[in-house]
Amino acid sequence: MGKTTAGTTAFGRMNRKKTHVRCRRCGRRAFHVRHKVCAACGFGASSKLRRYSWTTKTLQRMRLK
Ligand SMILES: [Zn+2]
Repeated sequence: MGKTTAGTTAFGRMNRKKTHVRCRRCGRRAFHVRHKVCAACGFGASSKLRRYSWTTKTLQRMRLK
């Protein structure tokens, strides 16, 4: 990575292929197309919901979408 890769040259690399689509289980756009795993809820990897305390700031609130 040189000096010029942060700006204009880097923009050409953006929006090449979509990595995440909308998840069927949690509704967030976090389902990885090629990996077939949701980054937000773990759909595809586990039957249980992927949930951590640090994902939500307010207690008893689930982060959606
Ligand atoms: Zn999900």
